[in-house]
Amino acid sequence: MSVAWAQTRKDGAARTGMLATPHGEIPTPAFMPVGTRGTVKTLDADDLERCGADMVLANTYHLMLRPGADTVAKLGELHGFMSWPGPILTDSGGYQVFSLNPKVDEEGVTFRSIYDGAPVELTPERAVAIQEALGSDVAMVLDVLIGLPAGEEETRVAMERTLRWAERSLAAKTRSDRALWGIVQGGSDPKLRARSAAATAALGFTGFGIGGLSVGEAPQARNLAVEAVVAELSEAAPRYVMGLGDTEGILDCVARGVDLFDCVLPTRLARHGKVLSRSGDFSIKRAEWASSTEPIDEDCRCVACRRYSRGYLRHLFATKEFLGPRLLSLHNLTYTLDLMSSIRTAIAEEAFDEFRAETIGVRSMIN
Ligand SMILES: [Zn+2]
Repeated sequence: MSVAWAQTRKDGAARTGMLATPHGEIPTPAFMPVGTRGTVKTLDADDLERCGADMVLANTYHLMLRPGADTVAKLGELHGFMSWPGPILTDSGGYQVFSLNPKVDEEGVTFRSIYDGAPVELTPERAVAIQEALGSDVAMVLDVLIGLPAGEEETRVAMERTLRWAERSLAAKTRSDRALWGIVQGGSDPKLRARSAAATAALGFTGFGIGGLSVGEAPQARNLAVEAVVAELSEAAPRYVMGLGDTEGILDCVARGVDLFDCVLPTRLARHGKVLSRSGDFSIKRAEWASSTEPIDEDCRCVACRRYSRGYLRHLFATKEFLGPRLLSLHNLTYTLDLMSSIRTAIAEEAFDEFRAETIGVRSMIN
């Protein structure tokens, strides 16, 4: 079977749906924890299931260099390699490669491996071939990213090259049991975003990433860009804002019809002692928690909240114990995945606007 998404309910522009893949169905809106090198840092596959993860993301860039796509393929593709039976999405590697100041021409990008300095070439065709070898359920096209702030001309040139690469990517696709989604670019200019979305859709993709957002732009600029993109895309296709994972950002995007998210934020913040919570995000390292017997959140079902006090968690960070980042990673992912579950329930009950206002209201009172 292949990959297909179908809408189930709608509440304003917000919608629920079901993404069917060869490795199971996942309800949307959904959030994908990020397993950069084939592992969500400090967590194993059982942990991810307990957190409520339905689908995870893995990074093509890291896996193509270490251990290499052929090795992953021999070890049972990503699902066997990671022992993750559920759906997996891979990014194309573009985001990481473009952060390394690569040589870019019409053919592709050339960069030096962070591991041994050897030159590596990545073309749209190779990005597809690598992801097909990795065996991810959903692969993403190689897109052209630009540093911010960027002028209109630079943004337009990158967006147009992304379109040409998207066409080459589709032509290179060989696996009918896997999906390849396009990526909409265009910076924070709604006109360019709309052009990119319409042209990417015209190529015939069945799903759409919205790239180049959540890179420091103001929430209002991001929201306008998302609105411009969604207006050009078919209702029947899933929309995925790449690299976004904060509570307010997720709620803003779901309100505009976005179905899928990924972000390193919940686990990266966890490793730095930052807690995501219903009542506002905070640092577990603060001195005021030293003698606190309270859990992070008494209503949270995760092991960090069920068994441990803020005082103990603060101690783990003060003494740099491995368990601290692990417990906060479990909590922050449980928080984010439960947020998605609540969002789906609210949409099904046609109460998304109220849920969103209440969630943001409670968090902003404390913050
Ligand atoms: Zn918790």
